[in-house]
Amino acid sequence: MASPLHILNTVFGFPGFRGQQAEVISHMVDGGDALVLMPTGAGKSLCYQVPALCRDGIAVVVSPLIALMQNQVAALTQLGVRAAALNSARSFDEAAVIERQMRAGELDLLYVAPERLVTPGFLSLLDQCRIALFAIDEAHCVSQWGHDFRPEYLQLALLHERFPAVPRIALTATADGPTRKDIAERLGLGDGRIFVAGFDRPNIRYRITAKKNAKEQLLRFLEAEHSGDSGIVYCLSRAKVEEVAGWLTDKGYDALPYHAGLDQSVRAANQDRFLRDEAVVMVATIAFGMGIDKPDVRFVAHLDLPKSLESYYQETGRAGRDGLPANAWMAYGLEDVAKLGQFIASSQASDTQKRIERQKLNALLGLCETTRCRRQVLLEYFGESGAPPCGNCDICLEPVASFDGTELARKALSCVYRTGESFGAGHVIDVLLGKDTEKVQRFGHNGLSTFGIGAELAAEEWRSVLRQLVAAGYLSIDVEGHGAFRLTETCRPVLRGEIRVDLRRDPLPAKAKAKTATGKKAATQWERADDEALFQVLRAERMALAKAQGVPPYVILH
Ligand code: ADP
Ligand code: MG
Ligand code: ZN
Repeated sequence: MASPLHILNTVFGFPGFRGQQAEVISHMVDGGDALVLMPTGAGKSLCYQVPALCRDGIAVVVSPLIALMQNQVAALTQLGVRAAALNSARSFDEAAVIERQMRAGELDLLYVAPERLVTPGFLSLLDQCRIALFAIDEAHCVSQWGHDFRPEYLQLALLHERFPAVPRIALTATADGPTRKDIAERLGLGDGRIFVAGFDRPNIRYRITAKKNAKEQLLRFLEAEHSGDSGIVYCLSRAKVEEVAGWLTDKGYDALPYHAGLDQSVRAANQDRFLRDEAVVMVATIAFGMGIDKPDVRFVAHLDLPKSLESYYQETGRAGRDGLPANAWMAYGLEDVAKLGQFIASSQASDTQKRIERQKLNALLGLCETTRCRRQVLLEYFGESGAPPCGNCDICLEPVASFDGTELARKALSCVYRTGESFGAGHVIDVLLGKDTEKVQRFGHNGLSTFGIGAELAAEEWRSVLRQLVAAGYLSIDVEGHGAFRLTETCRPVLRGEIRVDLRRDPLPAKAKAKTATGKKAATQWERADDEALFQVLRAERMALAKAQGVPPYVILH
């Protein structure tokens, strides 16, 4: 049997393996099962193509897109590998030829659409072949949590039952926890090894700061580091996109808006300017970004929280494609968490889906409030553990001091309790500080035992404490109850003084009053669904384009 490296050198013409390819390949050659999570472009194909040539028999590769298959087959054929694709683009005669070649053992790799693979006819054909391995590419298609669910992928679980001795490898670039677990469960890959690698973007500097006056904070960031650069500023709502774009323009920046509410021709023109010109700042909702492959985007700024760590990673990943230093900068506050919580609560999704979305939001909050290296936290979320602190993120550069905040936590939690778990940060802080506001008087909260017990901190510092208590799961935000704090089960031992709570000490910021925009809530929510829809439409357009040009979608998609 030829060694993997020999095949890599002689057949594919590459001098060496990248990242974890060598490990994955030797695991597959030895007959193991594997789930491989690597970003687009990392080189997942070789992880099954090389074992296909090392092992006896034919490798059967499941792939969701015809364009993708054709492209791979063409490339392999050019290298002298005996490969073919069976899908609806094949005529009956062509298919018959391929099936004959399969029986005769004349093919090394066969690409096949999932719906074809699970037909009784094809399965009995496979019974007559010697199979080297099954590869399930774009395996996130099996997950309902993914963005690309394909019901046909669900049936692939039968491969293991029908061919228990044949090793299987599932590959995807979508790697967050719930999706990964779902893939492993649905494909019955529980005993297989999981390989995760390559998600680090070392040239991106991550920075997350507490939101006070977001626009001013953004302006200071741009003035200090990005005059004359091109970048993207993400906002949650269209109104805010327009407002921020106008404001940046007033400040002398070449800023353009982008959201689903704009006319198609305006969107196209703005996108064109962004791609072509050097120093355009695109202020956008999540609708913007699909298919944007501009190498010299120097910064991505978030004025609002994205909905998950995955979105954060994807959106910030649009910076620094050229490998040169780039910034990922974000300002966030508790209002964002409440707002996103509301979107989740009021969406049409099932309860399970909502629970997962909330978990994803919590993970993002964990990144915001961490006292550890941001890159480490991010990579660990994608399953890449063991990376050293990066030395380049805000926390590595300016380590946050943490201190025993148990007493402060108890004060905050009991104040939430005493005020009936019915209020948000503003009122709870007023009570802690002993402010005799109209609201405090109306509810008689100046008579509480917790009234004025928090005078040692400023309001902004209490905000930071409350954010951290939410991120740590001691407090939740009740989105149906106007964003009121609720105590969770886990805060009992804290209140009883049984466990210690470490808090980070944020630098004391200038005081600023957070605005509330209750009246705009409904509109924003509707818009968000709409902007997501646009994103999906653009995505579908890109897919169609890829198909029409006969190139794999990763050439066009990110
Ligand atoms: P993925 O499926 O992970 O998105 P591909 O398998 O399509 O990535 O590979 C992306 C590119 O990287 C391809 O052009 C491929 O030939 C190249 N590549 C992969 N592995 C290696 C390697 N070990 N050496 C050189 N080039 C590689
Ligand atoms: Mg691929
Ligand atoms: Zn770091």
